Amino acid sequence: MPREISAGGVVVRKAELGWEVAVIEPTREGGTSNSAKRKSGKQGQVLALPKGIVDPGEQAAETAVREVFEETGITASIVTKLTDIKYVYVRSWGDKQRVFKIVSFFLLRYQSGEIDDVTREMRIEVKQALWIPLEGADRRLSYRGERDVIRKAQEWLKAHPEEVK
Ligand code: ATP
Repeated sequence: MPREISAGGVVVRKAELGWEVAVIEPTREGGTSNSAKRKSGKQGQVLALPKGIVDPGEQAAETAVREVFEETGITASIVTKLTDIKYVYVRSWGDKQRVFKIVSFFLLRYQSGEIDDVTREMRIEVKQALWIPLEGADRRLSYRGERDVIRKAQEWLKAHPEEVK
């Protein structure tokens, strides 16, 4: 089975009402074989964390920072590694192969930039990038693996209240 290695980020910032996390609404509909594993919220909206393929010679943490910027328009810096998630999906194109995917997720602190300020090319992949409250974000994300990632970020922030301001 072919493998894909990606990396992504949970970017947090402290807002007046508490922590917020940057999420994306991808435009592309993935392989139908995954639809049963995906819970869509209102109007079938898919919410996911920003992520992407680790380029040759790139460290996963660098990929996370780069993909966060490309998919959301914001600049953020690494705080800590959170976890790896794994899933299998079926390619919707070509020979419809099953792909084993590993995605490393990092916690990042927001630095600068306007969310959803993405390039025209990126708009093909990302319908919208937005801040949502971290509390309850696990329930709003579409993929179980990413929900667990959000819970890990919540736990980390609780255990290290002074480390991300
Ligand atoms: P990347 O964002 O790493 O560049 P991609 O956009 O090509 O990759 P994925 O986001 O992995 O690919 O999507 C491929 C398929 O897997 C789609 O059908 C998508 O719905 C599904 N998928 C995406 N994330 C998950 C997940 N965490 N768990 C299960 N299925 C997922």
